[in-house]
Amino acid sequence: MEKLFAAVDGYFIEKLVENDPIFDQILANNQKHQLPPHDVSPSQGKFLYLLTKIKSANRILEIGTLGGYSTLWFAKAIGNDGQVISLEYDKKHAEVASENLTIAGVSDKTTILVGAASDSLEKMVQAQTPAFDLIFIDADKENNSVYLNYALKLARPGTIIIGDNVVRDGAVIDQNSSDGRVIGVRSFVDDLASLPNLTSTAIETVGIKGYDGFTISIVE
Ligand code: SAM
Repeated sequence: MEKLFAAVDGYFIEKLVENDPIFDQILANNQKHQLPPHDVSPSQGKFLYLLTKIKSANRILEIGTLGGYSTLWFAKAIGNDGQVISLEYDKKHAEVASENLTIAGVSDKTTILVGAASDSLEKMVQAQTPAFDLIFIDADKENNSVYLNYALKLARPGTIIIGDNVVRDGAVIDQNSSDGRVIGVRSFVDDLASLPNLTSTAIETVGIKGYDGFTISIVE
């Protein structure tokens, strides 16, 4: 089935995902610099783009930049006065992302903050950074609950919060898992379920990136 899922994803990518060569260029540059291939898929990137457009989101917070592939999808969806702030721990990832976003011509709409995301988020809260319209959580899953807590401080009613890679080949339902990422996701899902000002669901995904999924929430 996995081969079929990937082939069908490939079909939809070919038909429906815009063929802007910059996206392939970014992935090639990431590979050249030996970044892990943990970017969202083209279909998922286009989904984030559409969601940003549907929401008319102009201020995006991304936790986990890697080479800037998803950052570029967001940057393309926001207006010229919009801003994507993306947080990345790894200096090399941030450098490659910065190079990629410059080549893509969106460096004026994107800011990468280098360091542990929790430190950058704390500084943003202290600085009373204006609320974001959409927040994408896609870094170390162990800290998802920490990021959700900060996300709520940087949100307003109507803000969308997305948490990526929450299915993990189905491992999410293993309550005895010793994998810190699974434990982190399960704690995040518990928070989504219990926080009174969040309305959430989760969507499973299959395709060229295997079996995974994301949560989507709105701040009420
Ligand atoms: N959003 C990217 C995309 O789709 O193109 C993929 C992000 S990748 C799944 C996760 C990234 O989070 C990696 O680049 C990793 O270095 C970064 N990361 C891991 N721990 C972090 C932390 N504590 N603070 C900030 N970034 C972190």
